[in-house]
Formats: sequence, C-alpha cells, structure tokens
Amino acid sequence: MGHWIDGAERASTSGRTAPVYNPATGAVTAEVALADDDEIAEAIASAELGFQKWSQYSIAKRQAVIFAFRELLVARKGELAAIVSSEHGKVLSDALGEIARGQEVVELACGFPHLVKGEHSENVSTGIDVYTLKQPLGVVGVISPFNFPVMVPMWFFPIAIAAGNSVIVKPSEKDPSASLWIANLWKEAGLPDGVFTVLQGDKQAVDGLLNSPVVQSISFVGSTPIAQYIYENAARTGKRVQALGGAKNHMLVLPDADLDLAADMAVNAGYGAAGERCMAISVVLAVEPVADELIAKVKDRIAKLRVGNGQSTPEPDMGPLITGVHRDKVSSYVDIAEKDGAEIVVDGRGFQVDGAEDGFFFGPTLLDKVPTSSAAYQEEIFGPVLSVVRVNSYDEGLDLINSGRFGNGTAIFTNDGGAARRFQNEVQVGMIGINVPIPVPVAYHSFGGWKQSMFGDAKAYGVHGFEFFTREKAITSRWLDPAKHGGINLGFPQN
Ligand code: NAD
Repeated sequence: MGHWIDGAERASTSGRTAPVYNPATGAVTAEVALADDDEIAEAIASAELGFQKWSQYSIAKRQAVIFAFRELLVARKGELAAIVSSEHGKVLSDALGEIARGQEVVELACGFPHLVKGEHSENVSTGIDVYTLKQPLGVVGVISPFNFPVMVPMWFFPIAIAAGNSVIVKPSEKDPSASLWIANLWKEAGLPDGVFTVLQGDKQAVDGLLNSPVVQSISFVGSTPIAQYIYENAARTGKRVQALGGAKNHMLVLPDADLDLAADMAVNAGYGAAGERCMAISVVLAVEPVADELIAKVKDRIAKLRVGNGQSTPEPDMGPLITGVHRDKVSSYVDIAEKDGAEIVVDGRGFQVDGAEDGFFFGPTLLDKVPTSSAAYQEEIFGPVLSVVRVNSYDEGLDLINSGRFGNGTAIFTNDGGAARRFQNEVQVGMIGINVPIPVPVAYHSFGGWKQSMFGDAKAYGVHGFEFFTREKAITSRWLDPAKHGGINLGFPQN
C-alpha cells in the first residue's frame, strides 16, 4: 500500500514497509509503505504546488468542492466503516459513529466563509481605515493515531482545506487504508491534485514534516511522549503546533447519583471500542457508601457483553485490540494491578473468541481497590480495563483527578446541581461531562485537554480550528485626496 501524491496512489520505492493486520483474525492483510526522504520531499513539493493552485480558488469554488465531498461521504460511508473495522477492529456501528463525528467537522467547514471573514473599522483616524484578512498558512501537516483513523484526521483537514491550505496527512501505520479512501473521495469531489496528500510512514516521515521549512504547521494526535516531542520540535523550527496527547479519564460517582445510569455509562465509556478511545473512562471514583452496589451493577452488565469480530452478524458489543503486542501490554497492566493489591472482579486476560483464536482479543476487565500508587492507576492502559478507586468524599475524588498528570476528559454523576456546578469550576480538566461519560464537544465548539493531554494553544476544530489554519494580516489604508496632502511630519500621526 503506497502514498497518495499528486492526485493518485503512488507505489513506494523506499524498500521499507510495516504489516497491517486484521485484528479480529490476527492475519496480515497488507504491507504499508514507510516513506524515505525522497518520497517525503516529493509529497511536500506536490503539496506546495497544490497550495499555489488552491489558495487562488474563490470562496464559492472552494465551498462547492467541500459540499461535494460531504455528499459523497454521506452516500458511501458504509465502505469506509468496513475499512475501519477491518484494520482497527472496532464494531461497524462504532466505525459509523466515528465517521459521523468527522462528518460534523466537514459540515462545519461547509460554512467556512463566515469563519474566515476579516474585520473592518472605518475612519480610525481621519480618512484612514483598518481591516484584517485571514489567509491560509500554506502546506500543513496532520499526524494521526491508530484509534480514530477517520475522525481524528477529519478534526483538522476539512477546516485546513476550506481555509485554503494544502494538507499532508501522515496516518497511523497500523490502519492506513482509510486515508487513501478519503483521498479518492476528495478527487471525486473535484479537489485539485496536491491539495490532499497521504504520506505513509513512521518516525522518519514525521521528522521529515517537522524539519521541512515548507510545512507551516503540525496538528498531532497520539500518545503524550510523542505529542511532547512534536511540540518541542515543531516550535524549534518555528511552526504552529497543536499536539494532543494521552489521557486517564476519571468518572466521579457521588452517593446521590442514579447508580443504574452510572453503571450503564461506565460500561459504555469503559469498554466501547475496547477502551481504545482517548476519552474512554478508565477510572471510576466511587464515593462511599456506593462502591459495592455500583460494582455489582457494572459486573452484571459486563457478563452480558458480547466480544467478537466487529464485522460479524449479529454485531458484537466490542471487538479486539489493535495488535498482539498491545494486547500483551494491556494484560501486563492487569498483572501489575494484581501484584500491587487490586482485586480482580472480572478478568479479561487470556480471553479467546471461538474460531478466531489468533485474533487480538482481550476480555472486559474490572478491577477494584486499585492503589493509586500502582502504575496501573497512574498510566494510560488504553484497553478494556476499568479500575475502581473507592473514596470517602467529593473532595478526595476531586483531589485525585486534579493531582493526575493528564487532563483530557472527566465526568461527574450526581443529581445535585450544586455539586456538579462546583465540579465544573474546580476540576483541572479540559472537557467535562455532567451525567455524560464521554464529553466530546460538537464540531462548532473545540476539542482539547489540559496538562499532558495537550501541548499548544489552539484546540482542535471549531473556532480554534479556523484560527489555527489561518494567519491574520492587518491593513491600515488611506486613499489620499490630492488636494489635502499633509506635508512632512516626522512624529506619530495624531487624530
Ligand atoms: P502514537 O503516539 O504511538 O502514534 C501517533 C502517531 O505518531 C502515529 O502516526 C505514529 O506513526 C507517530 N509516531 C509514533 N512513534 C513516533 C516517534 N517516535 N516519532 C515520531 N512519530 C511517531 O499513538 P497511537 O498508539 O497511535 O494512539 C494512541 C494514543 O493516542 C493514546 O495515548 C491516546 O490517548 C492518544 N489519543 C489522544 C487523543 C486526544 O484527543 N487527546 C485522541 C486519540 C488518541
């Protein structure tokens, strides 16, 4: 599987590849190219030419292409969902859900003219006007993680393209096909060649984008150590950067909460997409005396979950993990929790699906009394492992959330409006749910965490997205009346 450069798939000559798996069967389904320096240079050169053409398109012409892309996406999203499910492993309905959240950003981008308008002040001084232009940056880079091969790149590229930039997407090498499919769709929608490029690769491709003086910005989503690396290196080369990192999201359940609702939501948010979501709930903070009752309810619900191939009928609730290596890492965190004294309420280690013994499955796992000193509490596991930590008060729960190094999402479950209001004010996290477990903002707000969950100032999509992908110019203009020249005056002009 190759790159997408100059409006066509381009076979790689780098001689380097990585295997792509179907995680539900464990079979290698493709080898994806890993770009070398020549291919990186070719992709950037093509994107530069693409930008020169595209940035001259009128707003009306750009808008027509984005509307066409939206129509094609809606008509053919089933094909894309099947690709996502077969390379990522998530169930088909969840793959469609991720496409729907990406589509929202495409729809926001359809209305871009309103969001790239400048401002105008007439007669700031006698005969002088000031106005601003919002111009595209040029060639921009998007580097995405494996867990949302459609939604995460779509947080960025519809807005970047609408604003007049050309985009190079560097997908995760674990599920690279979705981006090629999307490139084809852009072509069908009428986007000129070179405006949407797919560069397959690993660290070498990432470093190639970071080090290129042509690439003006980097939008990165992935794990925290790499996000920090991107942030530091993009800044070193003078680029704009937004780098979204990992997470450890807590759900605080107060004693007055509706425990059936809380249990449903903990299961949905803990085990959906096999826990491979940056907004997944991984820790339930149960404020006593509710822990025993809540755990019993979660355990009942886990017993009913069906795990299997995400494309089988009837559809299971949860698919496999992305690779065998990742499954083993998730398993090792359960070993660590056990060794550190946690109680294993439901054990997903060694889980197998009949007839798919080579698939990368891991059963839903529930841990109780997880010590907060354990690496299983402190680190991101990124699998279907829900840890319960028992606390004695709202304050104890809040302190735990605020002392963590991540700050992506969190949720409070309560029927007490005053407590919820206090929580939204006091918690040091970027996205907060009140009786909502996965508070991903809609496209016309913006997505971003705090602390080590995000490096940079501009969040993803919404108004932040348009600010990130445009550069403002301020113009001060005077059209002289030939009869009224002011003559020479070396001081600052006054009134
Ligand atoms: P990852 O950090 O391993 O990879 C992300 C991207 O970086 C990939 O394109 C990969 O090829 C590239 N990369 C990997 N190693 C690199 C290196 N050494 N140098 C340069 N580039 C490198 O992340 P992943 O495993 O694909 O995705 C899961 C992670 O992403 C989790 O930590 C999850 O929380 C996070 N995530 C965060 C958000 C968010 O919005 N904050 C959203 C989705 C995923």
